[in-house]
Amino acid sequence: MSSSQPSLPDLDVAGGGMQFNVDGWEPEYGQALDMELQLAESRADVDPDIEVPQDRWRPIAVDPAVTAPRVVLFVDGVRRVDARVWIDEPIGADGVVPTAATAGVCASYAAGVVCCCEGKAHVIAVELCRGMFTIAPHATDVHTRAGTYQACFTVAKEGTPLPVTLSSAVQERLAGVELRTANRARSSLAGHVEVDDDLLVVDGPLRAGAHLDRAVGYIKSHHSEYLSRQLNSVVGSLGPRQRTPVFRMVTTWDRYSWYLRLPCAPAAPWAGVIRVEASVDLVPEQVFALANLTQVVLPRYASAEYKDARAPQNLYPIGGLEKDLRHKLGDQQLLYRALRQAAAM
Ligand SMILES: [Zn+2]
Repeated sequence: MSSSQPSLPDLDVAGGGMQFNVDGWEPEYGQALDMELQLAESRADVDPDIEVPQDRWRPIAVDPAVTAPRVVLFVDGVRRVDARVWIDEPIGADGVVPTAATAGVCASYAAGVVCCCEGKAHVIAVELCRGMFTIAPHATDVHTRAGTYQACFTVAKEGTPLPVTLSSAVQERLAGVELRTANRARSSLAGHVEVDDDLLVVDGPLRAGAHLDRAVGYIKSHHSEYLSRQLNSVVGSLGPRQRTPVFRMVTTWDRYSWYLRLPCAPAAPWAGVIRVEASVDLVPEQVFALANLTQVVLPRYASAEYKDARAPQNLYPIGGLEKDLRHKLGDQQLLYRALRQAAAM
């Protein structure tokens, strides 16, 4: 892009200058795009016979021999659409200005890690990114006065609407940043605590290929029923700090999982119930040990109902981190105006 206002063919000569337009402001910008993604994960193949045969499924109480690690790390990410854009097709060699354009999404996303140690919670790593997500191969980075949106390419999937493809691409990038931030946070712990005496809690599913030691994924809302009616009744009968046996579930990827009830006032059958995930790369005994550990660790961070509307599932270190990360994303209206300005250049 050029800072002057040349005619379109000049721009092309100036280095493949990408032309784009910014859609009008929409109030739903910035809202979570989770719904589309959740629909894609609504079906799973479940093997419940991992820890005990399914006809012996009962709530599992806390193992009194299990002690909490010295450090618990919480990893979370936030994302926001700053604008929807239209990327013009490149100008032909004959100088013909094309009329077609491809939809794209400009998004800001950030990931961070909170360390809970010695009775305090402190943020130890944060990374902020901005990207223009598109299937247009000629797209280039967009420089604005408020920051650069890096061109992030993805491919169209047959049968999937483009907005869903783009939204999944943002989610995947964010998952990558979460992973990087978590690894960086872990290496910065050296000297801070004994190595191997920590647990990493990722807010959300533990994605395929996420190679993190001593890590669990933390899922606080339940949009799909993965278990049979009979096994679901075991979830409903969990007491505070009790968990279900471990099961294995396969959607688009494979992992171990279990349900756990956080302490809460008696309410609906699934009140305070969360689902935890662990990597399929672990041997079952390691997974059972992690499951036992989560019964000791996670209830300690359940938020009090008067503090958080989503209590107790919204763990308070994660709540604080999310607030920080949203602030880090920057002022949305300002970024939107900066993108419009960049498009007009
Ligand atoms: Zn710490």
